Amino acid sequence: MQFHTINDLDVRGKRVLVREDLNVPLRAIQGEADAWSIADYTRVDAAIPTLRALLDRGAKVIVMSHLGRPDGVANPKYSLKPLVAALADRLHVPVAFATDCIGATARDAATHLREHELLLLENVRFHKEEEANDPDFARELASLGDLYVNDAFGTAHRAHASTEGVAHLLPNAAGLLMQAELSALTALTVAPAHPYVCVIGGAKVKDKVGVFFNLMERVDAFCIGGGMANTFLAAQGVAVGRSLRDDDLGPAREILAKAKERGVALHLPVDAIVSNAFDNDAGAHTVTIANVGDEMILDIGPETAHAYAAAIETAKTVVFNGPMGVYEKAVYQDGTKIVGEAIARATAHGATSVVGGGDAAAAAHMLGFAARMTHVSTGGGATLEFLEGKTLPGVAALAI
Ligand code: AMP
Repeated sequence: MQFHTINDLDVRGKRVLVREDLNVPLRAIQGEADAWSIADYTRVDAAIPTLRALLDRGAKVIVMSHLGRPDGVANPKYSLKPLVAALADRLHVPVAFATDCIGATARDAATHLREHELLLLENVRFHKEEEANDPDFARELASLGDLYVNDAFGTAHRAHASTEGVAHLLPNAAGLLMQAELSALTALTVAPAHPYVCVIGGAKVKDKVGVFFNLMERVDAFCIGGGMANTFLAAQGVAVGRSLRDDDLGPAREILAKAKERGVALHLPVDAIVSNAFDNDAGAHTVTIANVGDEMILDIGPETAHAYAAAIETAKTVVFNGPMGVYEKAVYQDGTKIVGEAIARATAHGATSVVGGGDAAAAAHMLGFAARMTHVSTGGGATLEFLEGKTLPGVAALAI
């Protein structure tokens, strides 16, 4: 799909309405009423390149975003106000704040904005019309700007007023983050280099059925771990004891049949780290997959991890889409760490590697291999929907 980039826009002296994903986690400041600080700056940092480029080129930048789920009601708990200082610190320009994203407040602030200055609008989800993609609300937002830039990849799977409606009302372009995400993810679906391995894990098969079926057409092998591996094992008649697994084995059976039909390798654990209780870390030990007994599988075992690593190391394209075990706990991190290191080695030897967002990205950061990947996606649901082959409304609205 073709779309304009910010390089195609003449932004000098123009009011550029930018949709960013500033949906940062906040924490309450102890002892102060209605005061919040930012717990993680990843999304702020990801927004900076586009904002800096526009400001450097003399744009008057107006930023809109959502934060949390205020469900159409103004609520200080979900205010974007704490983002003012974060943006000013990073961009070194004056940052104004409008306490409402539409109406006289927003219009006045937008009118007074000068070149090389930024105005942050209050949470667009304080109005229920945002998520309803209400045309009048979209027109109000659009009236603030001369141009529209969508940089909010993480929200691109939502057809909301600020992500979709506005794009139809102003000359538009994709921001740098949006562009980077789309180009990295497109490399996984359009003409990927082979061998192509999908390392897939996480809790449930049911959440990733669409990813399996879409990538099945493209990859040479799936290396499966996490809770979802238990469901595949159960579908093959392996006793998985008290391990997490989907009740419905139907989707796993369909995926197994389709992989066989297409000649796609579907690797499953041959050993596992198990324990008799989720919290009994001291009881964790390795068993072969036929000997799980009455215990719980909480990570892939060392033989499995090294077999997956061997398959990954010869790959030219790798997508990492979910942890191999309960990576939040030290005793169940090794599986994810070993495959992550193998992806890093493949990348160093020229492979393209992409970490799908959400828990996969969290695991990659926590276990220290994120920086050695070609790309770590910032999206959760948006990344998953892209990998399912779905059209993202926020992206489609930018199509030339
Ligand atoms: P997801 O959000 O679907 O990517 O799932 C990620 C979650 O799955 C993480 O919180 C992991 O701790 C969890 N997980 C991974 N492997 C297992 C397992 N074998 N049993 C239970 N939970 C798991």
